[in-house]
Amino acid sequence: MRLYFALIAVLLISSGAAQSADISKPNNGGTVMKHELTPLPYAYNALEPYISEEIIKLHHDKHQAAYVAGLNKAEEELEKARVAGDYAVISYWERQLAFNGSGDLLHTIFFKNMAPNAGGEPNGDLLDQIKKDFGSFEAFKKQFSSSAATVEGSGWAALVWQPEYEKLYITQILNHQNNELAGAQPILVLDVWEHAYYLQYQNRRADWIENWWNVVNWSDVSKNLSAARSYVPEKVSVSM
Ligand code: MN
Repeated sequence: MRLYFALIAVLLISSGAAQSADISKPNNGGTVMKHELTPLPYAYNALEPYISEEIIKLHHDKHQAAYVAGLNKAEEELEKARVAGDYAVISYWERQLAFNGSGDLLHTIFFKNMAPNAGGEPNGDLLDQIKKDFGSFEAFKKQFSSSAATVEGSGWAALVWQPEYEKLYITQILNHQNNELAGAQPILVLDVWEHAYYLQYQNRRADWIENWWNVVNWSDVSKNLSAARSYVPEKVSVSM
């Protein structure tokens, strides 16, 4: 009798384990994450007069939303390929993942990087690190603005923290996913795709960049830097 109950218990536990993890299925395609559009942290008109309500509404509700949809599509197609064991078009869907996933992630950082009644200059640890790595806040600002102005075609200027080098860098990101410094975490990004400014600034990208400094939320950038610093890679040690 005791053995009988023990057997039942083992059967129940093993069937429960099989239900909670699909790894026992021969056609298991792994996880398909359902991504959702991150809400805007302010009202559509909050960044006026520097960024019009119309731009923010289209930029968030249409452009970022399209990257989220493209990312979800890529997740589904990659799972289908794994289930079917058919990797013929894997490079196309992995590129779609990089483009749409990076597009979604950069826009989330970008919208959080801005706030009404913001602008001015950073302080504390962020300012110290900027001075250390760029010489001065003014020198940093000039390099960042020049970087944004000279992106060829569609892309971004990004201030990134590279944990291996423990240093801030400014990089140009082409489209959303190309030309990035490996392992670096973006803490401040500026969108210079035409959709970011054309309705208000037309072809005057330099005016867009100059006005954008008025809405930079330095306290958000500071938080991003301290979060990025929490990842400390293990250093390679030489043993003879
Ligand atoms: Mn954009």
